[in-house]
Amino acid sequence: MSDLPIMPMPADAAASAPRPSGGMTLVERAYQHLLSMLMTVKIAPGERIPIDTVARQLGISQTPIREALSQLEAEKLVYKTTNVGYRASPQMTPEEVHDLYTLRVLIEPYAAARAAEHMDDEALAILQSIQAEMDAVVDRDEQAYARFAEADAQLHRLIARGSGNRLIEETIERLHSHLQIFRSLYQNGAQPNAPEAAAREHQLIIAALLAHDPVAAEESVRQHLTSSQQRMDRASGTLRS
Ligand SMILES: [Zn+2]
Repeated sequence: MSDLPIMPMPADAAASAPRPSGGMTLVERAYQHLLSMLMTVKIAPGERIPIDTVARQLGISQTPIREALSQLEAEKLVYKTTNVGYRASPQMTPEEVHDLYTLRVLIEPYAAARAAEHMDDEALAILQSIQAEMDAVVDRDEQAYARFAEADAQLHRLIARGSGNRLIEETIERLHSHLQIFRSLYQNGAQPNAPEAAAREHQLIIAALLAHDPVAAEESVRQHLTSSQQRMDRASGTLRS
């Protein structure tokens, strides 16, 4: 499969190709499809991802699929091996998820306080659109679940960037925690980071940022991450008392 020649196109050719109906480029469509398959573990951890099959399923060429896969590789959701091609990344253990939250609780509240002070109008406008997007996720089908995870990732990324501290931003970004965590939970058949609870917590965070209130921003992020950690622990049966 991986020995098929790739068409000699510039890297961004597929991305700039005419948009099919629905407003998404082929790369975006391939990305959304694969993301949803990974997060709902229809592609299991460690499983090989056959590019030709995916291309057939979507009725598109292999080029946008390869591009989508390299985006997912940057997000650590898949990895490339020499002979096999792409595989889904292995699952995080419950302990790893717990530790990841511990690190986030140490860093992100500080980032949020600085973000409340620094955020410019453009970032604040994006915040409002994230809020709207999260509010729209009321049903619990798989696509909605994936969209919620993405909006969550976007919110936390915006806070990291808003900190105005490059090292903090990169550290948070490198954790690539959101998608991984949602994925690991889905595996257990649970959605314990209940969109409803998390959405309420996000509302408080966004309100604090919009009000340029560093104290409230710091506290609301700490609350959110601590609650998330407890929900994760409960779901995976590793709750430390
Ligand atoms: Zn969140």
